[in-house]
Amino acid sequence: MAQTVNAQQTSLSARMDKTAEGLEKKVVAWRRDFHQYPELGNREFRTAGKVAAHLQALGMEVKTGIGKTGVVGILRGGKPGPVVALRADMDGLPVTERVDLPFKSEVRTEYNNQQTGIMHACGHDSHVAMLMGAAEVLASVKNELHGTVKFIFQPAEEGAPQGEEGGAYLMVKEGVLDNPKVDAIFGLHINSQTEVGTIKYRPGATMAAVDQFAIKLKGKQTHGASPWSGVDPIVTASQVVMGLQTIVSRNLPLTENAAVVTVGAIHGGIRQNIIPEEVNMIGTIRSLDNSMQKTIHRRINEVATNIAESAGAQADVKIDIMYPVTYNDPKLTDQMVPTLEAVAGKNNVRITPAQTGAEDFSFYQQKVPGFFYFLGGMTKGKKVEEAAPHHTPDFQIDESCFVLGMKTLCHLTVDYMSQTGKVAAVSGK
Ligand SMILES: [Zn+2]
Ligand SMILES: [Zn+2]
Repeated sequence: MAQTVNAQQTSLSARMDKTAEGLEKKVVAWRRDFHQYPELGNREFRTAGKVAAHLQALGMEVKTGIGKTGVVGILRGGKPGPVVALRADMDGLPVTERVDLPFKSEVRTEYNNQQTGIMHACGHDSHVAMLMGAAEVLASVKNELHGTVKFIFQPAEEGAPQGEEGGAYLMVKEGVLDNPKVDAIFGLHINSQTEVGTIKYRPGATMAAVDQFAIKLKGKQTHGASPWSGVDPIVTASQVVMGLQTIVSRNLPLTENAAVVTVGAIHGGIRQNIIPEEVNMIGTIRSLDNSMQKTIHRRINEVATNIAESAGAQADVKIDIMYPVTYNDPKLTDQMVPTLEAVAGKNNVRITPAQTGAEDFSFYQQKVPGFFYFLGGMTKGKKVEEAAPHHTPDFQIDESCFVLGMKTLCHLTVDYMSQTGKVAAVSGK
């Protein structure tokens, strides 16, 4: 940015950075505590309690129980301006920790009728701790803030337990973006396979939309020795699985965006010499573009229905729309990348390929412009192949990235407020 930053702003930046650095030990301690006592989605009672107490101690207006266990803190700045939301997710996963750490999780539970450990195997413990730190930094400069900050601590990013609503979807439904109305939202995700100091982002479609499908194929049961007297749904299902493979390879403009159709489970039959009446299959769809998503849905229906018909069977296709695309508003992304570059160093901020994983931050971005980025959490010099991926028992992060994470959250907030304030002043709002 070519414009001269005024002295007041410079000193505000410097003070925020100093405060963030001074909070490092505290943030690490919070993270270790959350790590040791992880909670599954919609059950983040202990975590939410600690978050709420912290925000209250900072003098914020605090709301609890939003979207089950969600916590929202509102920090009203000393001067008028836009409302910026910062979001952290709080849930752990049904994974049994294998990392040998003094604060390793020993928590055990039953999940889907199986005994399992609970672990912060996606790093959400660090998101909560960093956002608590950022809240403390921004509260310390409250009087100088040109606007309001809404701190959103969200449950169940990884999905709610069966039969329950949850996550960003439910918080949005319960009005988390209203009253005061949010103008822009920022969120980050730590990454166990990106070096500390590096920040990655992507303008536009960043993480995929997720839908799930279920196909029921109904044939006609008969003796395995005389298949001609029935309709074999197993052979038909095999053809359908192969037919589905041609959707991505033959029906989609692949140079524009990636997409995935995966059949994840297939069930049918009970004995070697019985051709069953029915076969059921379920799968997942990942897409980064709305029109490609529509094509996939249409083709799954056509492929399954017509292959079944050609065999004399019947297909019943159900598609459930789950998560939207995590879409970084291009204008907001352009506006905020210089801030990340100023905080992390220009060479440390990079564009990353789109991912076919999903993130429910997308539900906020459907309502307001949002920017979601990735914070490196792998020890410098470590090989990516040696760093365990997210959602695995060996997942680990390097805490030395927390200060950078806090600084990015604080600077995005302050810069957005001052830039938006200037635009408003120029346009005479
Ligand atoms: Zn995850
Ligand atoms: Zn995650």
